[in-house]
Parts: sequence; C-alpha cells; structure tokens
Amino acid sequence: MNDIGEREFRLREQLVQVRACRRCEGALPLGPRPVLSLTGTARLLIIGQAPGTRVHETGVPWNDRSGDRLRSWMDVDRAVFYDPSRIAIMPMGFCYPGRLDRGGDAPPRPECAPTWHAPLRALLPEVRLTLLVGGHAQRFYLRSLAPSTVTATCARWRDFLPAYLPLPHPSWRTTAWQRRHPWFDADLLPALQRHVKVVLCHSSGRNAIGGR
Ligand code: SF4
Repeated sequence: MNDIGEREFRLREQLVQVRACRRCEGALPLGPRPVLSLTGTARLLIIGQAPGTRVHETGVPWNDRSGDRLRSWMDVDRAVFYDPSRIAIMPMGFCYPGRLDRGGDAPPRPECAPTWHAPLRALLPEVRLTLLVGGHAQRFYLRSLAPSTVTATCARWRDFLPAYLPLPHPSWRTTAWQRRHPWFDADLLPALQRHVKVVLCHSSGRNAIGGR
C-alpha cells in the first residue's frame, strides 16, 4: 500500500471510531449522531460549531439556512460545497448538543474537538485553508492570538492567513451584524471568495473516499 492508500485507510478507520463515539452520550438530548464530511484529498476545511436539529435529522452538514448563507459568502454551489474530495467539513462538536434554557442552541460539546480534531486533521495533509466559523472554532484554533470577540477576530482576518480565515456564524442574526460592519462585505467576503477559488482550483478531485 502506498502512502496515500495507507492514509486513506487510516482515515476510514478513524471515521469508524468517530461514528461509534459515545463519549458524551448522556449530555446529548437526541443521542450521538456525528455529522462530518472528510476525505484525504480535501484542500479546504470548514470548522463550524455543531449540528442543529435539521442537520441532525438529515445527517448532512450545513443543510440549513446558515449553510445557504455560508455558501453564498463563499460563492460556491451545493455541488462544490458537498464534494468531499475538495471540501472537508468538521464542526467543533460533531453531535447535536441540545438547547439552552434561555433559548438558542447549546454550545458544541467541550469533549469533542479535543478528542477528535488532532487525529483527523493529521490525516488531512492537503488542507491549505481552514475557515474558522464562529467563536468556538476561533478560540480553539487561534488560542491566545484570537481577540476576545468574534467581531474583533474577523476584523483582523488578514493576520491569520494563509492558514486560517475567521468568519462569524452565518445565522440570520448576521444580517444586521453585516450592516454594522461594512468592512465584512467590502473586504472580507471578496478575500474569502478569492482564497476559496484559488485553493479549490488546485483540487485534483482524485483519491476521494466517502466521509459522510
Ligand atoms: S459530540 Fe463528539 S465526543 Fe460527544 S458523542 Fe458526539 S462525537 Fe463523541
């Protein structure tokens, strides 16, 4: 087996372990159902927060209005977005974490990323750009480099290239946020689209294995 075959075999094995994970089962109101999409050839990695109920039901990441907004920000259609040979999708928490008492989805389970991200990322050697979508991903990956708010982190997006590009979570609330921060549409979105295009146009699309 060559290096690529060996890596794909290890990635498949790792995904089998992820899908069998019950580590925080007791805290998950709908039970474990990890939703992620990975192959060893992906050049772009999207790290979001955690599945909502619709994503949990369908098992398809970003299969909701937030996903529609993210695709529009990236200027990619569903065919490209869901091509795992080009784009890997891995949230901070793989399973639906439930709701907060005061409303809104609970944060990603804190056990998940520290358990799974490093071994999975080690099997994604082609990734050239990682989109950090939301504060949880930004704090985990940028650590002390991350300013204290998502707005401040996104405003400093240039500092984190070429490896990372921070984005706010693309929920409906972001529409008002975008109006208050015109640099997002004027500068960050064109840069995002440019970088996504460059990274994806070098994707071979070969050697893909099904991650979903
Ligand atoms: S959220 Fe992560 S750690 Fe918890 S059961 Fe799902 S895969 Fe395992």
